Amino acid sequence: MTTGVHSRSAWLHPDLEAIAPRPRRKVHLDYHNSQFEPRVGYAFDPDEFVATLKKASIDSIVVFAKDMHGYFYYPSEHGPVHPGLEGLDLMGEQVEACRRAGIKVYTYYCVTWDNYLAEHHPEWLCFRRERDTYLPAFDETPNWTALCLSNDDYVELMLDHTREILSRCRPDGVWYDMPMPNPEVECFCHNCLEAIRAEGKDPFDIRVQRERMQELLTMWLRRSKEVVDEVAPGVELEQNNQTRLGLAERAEYLYNVDIEALPSGEWGYGYFPLNARYVRSLDLPSTGMTGRFLLTWADFGGLKSENQLTLETAWIAATGSAVCIGDQAPPSARLEPGVYRTIGAAYGSLAAIDDVLEGAVGVAEAALVVSGLQLADYGRTERHGTHAISDGASGAAKMLSELGVQYDVVEAGTVDLDRYPLVIVAEGDELTPAVTAELEAYVEAGGTLVHSAVPGTTLDEAPWLRDLGVTHSEPSPFTPAYLRIADGFGDTVDGYDFALYDGADRWTLGGDAPSDSVQVAATLGEPLFQRSPEHYTSHHQSPVATQTGKPVVLVGDRLAAFAFPVASGYYAHGYWLYAELFRRVLDSVHPERLVRSSAPSSLELGLTHQPETATHGERFILHAVNFAGATRRGRDHTEYFDQVVPQSGVPVELDLPLDVARVYDARTGLDVESTGEGGRIQVTLPAVAIHGVLVLEATRRSDLP
Ligand SMILES: [Zn+2]
Ligand SMILES: [Zn+2]
Repeated sequence: MTTGVHSRSAWLHPDLEAIAPRPRRKVHLDYHNSQFEPRVGYAFDPDEFVATLKKASIDSIVVFAKDMHGYFYYPSEHGPVHPGLEGLDLMGEQVEACRRAGIKVYTYYCVTWDNYLAEHHPEWLCFRRERDTYLPAFDETPNWTALCLSNDDYVELMLDHTREILSRCRPDGVWYDMPMPNPEVECFCHNCLEAIRAEGKDPFDIRVQRERMQELLTMWLRRSKEVVDEVAPGVELEQNNQTRLGLAERAEYLYNVDIEALPSGEWGYGYFPLNARYVRSLDLPSTGMTGRFLLTWADFGGLKSENQLTLETAWIAATGSAVCIGDQAPPSARLEPGVYRTIGAAYGSLAAIDDVLEGAVGVAEAALVVSGLQLADYGRTERHGTHAISDGASGAAKMLSELGVQYDVVEAGTVDLDRYPLVIVAEGDELTPAVTAELEAYVEAGGTLVHSAVPGTTLDEAPWLRDLGVTHSEPSPFTPAYLRIADGFGDTVDGYDFALYDGADRWTLGGDAPSDSVQVAATLGEPLFQRSPEHYTSHHQSPVATQTGKPVVLVGDRLAAFAFPVASGYYAHGYWLYAELFRRVLDSVHPERLVRSSAPSSLELGLTHQPETATHGERFILHAVNFAGATRRGRDHTEYFDQVVPQSGVPVELDLPLDVARVYDARTGLDVESTGEGGRIQVTLPAVAIHGVLVLEATRRSDLP
């Protein structure tokens, strides 16, 4: 038996697989202490510190050099040193203890958020459009200070701080937080206005601003790396806030991307999956971050259940990312036993299967394309004057994850789309001529494209609509509009008119189109009038009155399109029908899947790959992460998972580019019965409590006769 990669059925990220394995179970130990904490670090005991970390299966940690208040945690000559340390070199002792114990250690340094520098150097502050700064009012508590990286003396000072840190201790890496220039990602300070105008550009144009902010950020990444490389070769740099468009340009300065995305905090459960797949598309390793907090940072007394933390860390590992759990040490600097018992439960579950996590990389059969402004943050809804990011990418990512489709998130123009058998274009993408040309070339080369259109999309922006027979497109004047599923496109409440809450385009099909191979899967219904002060009825939208006969879902052999925002619609309204239509469309145009299952959407299936090593053959690892048991959420609290509802008897079909010789459960080591041959394998998953892990392994080459 030999292993052979079938052509274009899956992208395995060979360059990412070639990178040496990195730490996989990290803790980010926040430690921001203001002047109102009179004593800090007073209960720190290096032996107890590392013993606690080891017991919780932690292999790496971020400790503090300088916090957001501006305080240093070692005797810095620059200062201010936190007065409550009373001379203690806390950072130095933490770094030393970790190195002795073989725990990788990174030193935290806050870049554009520094209250001390903001108060002492107001000339370094970013200015907003409204000609004020980001500083909160004098009677408010501190927030992001937003110092502008255009100030060379400020940048030089931070580089001197870096030199000082590296002269005092030898961490494995320095960890810079908040290098992003400011929350709105534009700056109207004197330097920025002058620099933009000197190039003859308009500082009020958000596109111009984003290019400048990307330049400043990239400059910081480059200069900080130059200093670290010069004074401490081999020490790595981590830079937070990198999960924003334009990452390809910044990638050369990065070793890894930490994805700050505490799911129970402001990021929700949508941010990490999208961005982990964006980072890996560029062959960068990533670390997904959750928190031990009930909610978000500095939630003292807020502690997740062991089950929820185990679930969230499994969910991160299932993408091939390393894991980080956020904690904040109390002022005493003594780690809290309750916190590390909880972290230990989650990390113990991953440590038990570390053999199938080490060097494993996520696999992709599809690319979800994103495109837009530099530094756009695709995992969040972003609104800025006329510029807005819809939740199209988040909604498409959610549907793909729920269907078990393995996907990357690809920024247009960065990597070859021909790697992927399937490309998804969701609303929210800017279909510039360059993006459109790239997608058209992909379709012409034989790729399969599914497009979810925002109302108002033109045929020039989406010329593949012409291939589906559309000759004219205009927005329907009605929001909501309605959709009726055509006969022959699956059985769903025949003849019912489902609401399209965010409107739709009216598509006209040409006389001789669509061809036989194009199916009208659903048609557009419209009401008698748009609800307004002049025309209204009842509490909400006007009911359907007209069947236009115009298509709202078209499905061809390798092309399919929605005339309404199916992805952001699903994300915003949770309408099951949208996900169901998306599923039927994918079944039609992309029937051959890496993983196919009738599992409920609460069971997420993630596929990773490990090349052959001395101890095992090439193999795929199927992660089943069980979100069943989510508590029906109240209006004012976070989602929580405290009860395990095991899933058993779930049938899964795999179609892998590998001849599978053995299938077994990574947790028990027991063989799992399978049918099929080559890479086409059918199995029934052993019961999944929180995190089931199945290994599909080829024979090692050295074991072949
Ligand atoms: Zn922090
Ligand atoms: Zn500026």
